Amino acid sequence: MHSVDRILTEVDRAEDEIVQFTADLVRIPTVNPPGEEYEACAHFLGDFLKRRAFEVEYIAAEGRPEHTAKHPRVNVIGSRRGGPGKVVHLNGHIDVVPAGGGWTVEPFGGLVRDGKIYGRGVCDMKAGIAAAVFAAEAIERAGVKLPGTIEISGTVDEESGGFAGVAHLAERGRIAKGRTDFVIIPEPLNVDRICVGHRGVYWFEVTARGRIGHGSMPFLGVSAIDGMGRLLQAVREELMPTLASRRTDVPVVPAGARHATINVNGIEGGQPVDGIQTPCVADLCRAVFDRRFLIEEGFDATKQEIADLVERVMAHANGVRFDVRDLMVVHPVRTPGDSPVIAALEHSILSVLGRPAELIASPGTYDHKHITRIAGIPHCVAYGPGELELAHQPDEFCRIDDIVTATKVLALATLDLMGAGR
Ligand SMILES: [Zn+2]
Repeated sequence: MHSVDRILTEVDRAEDEIVQFTADLVRIPTVNPPGEEYEACAHFLGDFLKRRAFEVEYIAAEGRPEHTAKHPRVNVIGSRRGGPGKVVHLNGHIDVVPAGGGWTVEPFGGLVRDGKIYGRGVCDMKAGIAAAVFAAEAIERAGVKLPGTIEISGTVDEESGGFAGVAHLAERGRIAKGRTDFVIIPEPLNVDRICVGHRGVYWFEVTARGRIGHGSMPFLGVSAIDGMGRLLQAVREELMPTLASRRTDVPVVPAGARHATINVNGIEGGQPVDGIQTPCVADLCRAVFDRRFLIEEGFDATKQEIADLVERVMAHANGVRFDVRDLMVVHPVRTPGDSPVIAALEHSILSVLGRPAELIASPGTYDHKHITRIAGIPHCVAYGPGELELAHQPDEFCRIDDIVTATKVLALATLDLMGAGR
C-alpha cells in the first residue's frame, strides 16, 4: 500500500481513540477566565505525547502577571524528530470560554451521541488538538519515516489574547523564525477551508467628563451622558456609513465582516442604576469601543480617524471633555498567497475530500498574530475541524467525521511540509 493510503487507513482505525482523547480533553474544564485547570490539561496532553515518544517541554509564563499560584499559565510542547527536513508546528489553545447558560447537555461531560462530541471547547478547539495529535500518530503508525520534525503545542489564554501562551513562546524564541518553518493552528473553520489571516482590532475607551449639578436644574451642570450620546450619534451617523463603504480584498467570512466595523462593547455613566439615586447631573460617562479594521486601512489611519471624530464632537458638546485611551491593538495578518503551507493544505484537502479548498480569513483574531508579528514566521494558517459558528455557543459540538477528516488532512499536509523544498 502507498504511504498516503496507509496513513489514511491508520486515521480511520484510530477513530475511537480520537473520540476518547477529545472527550477526555473536554472533561478538563480549562475555563478562561480565570484560567482553570491549565496545568492538568497541559500535563494530560504532555503525558500522552510522552508515551508516544515525543520529547515534551513545559513552559510556564514566568514573569507574566496572570501566571499565579492559583491559576498557573502552563504551556506544553511535544517534538518528534525525524530527518533534517522542515519543522512543522501544530498549535492549539487549551483554554475554553465559560459555558454560559442554555445548555441541554453537561458542558464538561464529554458526551458522545449521534456522531458528535458535545461540550464547551470541543470545537474551539480541543477537537483540533486531538486532530493534530492523531495526525502525527497516524504517520508513525503507518511506518512512514519523518523527513523533518513535528511539534505539537497546547497553549493557554488564546481567548484572552494569548499573551501567556503563544506570545510568550514566541517572545522566548521557542516558536521562532529559523527554528520553526510552518505553523498550522487547528481552529474550527470547517474542514474544507483554510484561514489565511484576520482583521485588525482596536479597542479603546472614551471617557466623557462634564460637571456635576442638581438634577432639578440640569442647565447648571454639564452632562457627560449627553456628551457621550452625541459621540454615539456621530459614530452611528458619520463613522458607520464610512466604515461600511470600505471593503477588504482579504476573503473574510462571513461576508458582512469584509467591511470595517465598530461596536460599543459597554457603557456606564452617572450613578449606578441599581443603587439609591440622588438628583445629579452625570459628570462622568465611559464607553468601550471595539473597532475592527482592515489590512488596507492600517492602524495609524484607524486611530487617527477616531481621534478626529472625537475632536469634532467635542467642539459642539456643550463643554463635555473627551479622552481616548487605547486598550488593545491587534494588527491584521495575512499569509502570503504563495506560502507552501497553503499549497500543502490545498493539496491535502483535495485528496481527502475530493473538492477544492476555500481560502478564508477570520472576522475575529486568534494566535496567528503572535506567530507572524512576534515569532516572525509568515507561513502560518488556521485549519481544523468544527464549525466556526458553533464556537462559544451553548450545546457546542464537533462532528466525529469532521475530526477524522481534519486529522487526515493535517497528516498529509504535515508530511508534505516536512519534506518541502529539499
Ligand atoms: Zn479558538
